[in-house]
Amino acid sequence: MHEMSVLSSILEIVNQTAKEAGAERVTRINLVIGERANLVDDSLWFAFSLLSRGTLCAEAELNIRHTRLSFYCATCQSNYTPPIDNFRCPVCHQIGQITGDGREMLIESIEVAD
Ligand SMILES: [Zn+2]
Repeated sequence: MHEMSVLSSILEIVNQTAKEAGAERVTRINLVIGERANLVDDSLWFAFSLLSRGTLCAEAELNIRHTRLSFYCATCQSNYTPPIDNFRCPVCHQIGQITGDGREMLIESIEVAD
């Protein structure tokens, strides 16, 4: 399962960061996951519950925010989030500029207690 290795790397970074900050435990982990990152929330939760045991993250809340594929249309001067199979602007039907590819996978922030 792809999510296991992803979550494992995330926990490694979070635990290391928390340790360096002198925190006793992590209370919350905020992730940003793109809709096209090929990561399933349920699998992430599952991986988290297994891998966080015995770490500073054992009691942390895992929060996942999703980002979408996004484009900017210079003609209409607006942002839009097209379906995967049609990247055209819904108003003028020109193909805009891509501003987000929906494949993000970031640790946005963590909250700790000490
Ligand atoms: Zn347009």
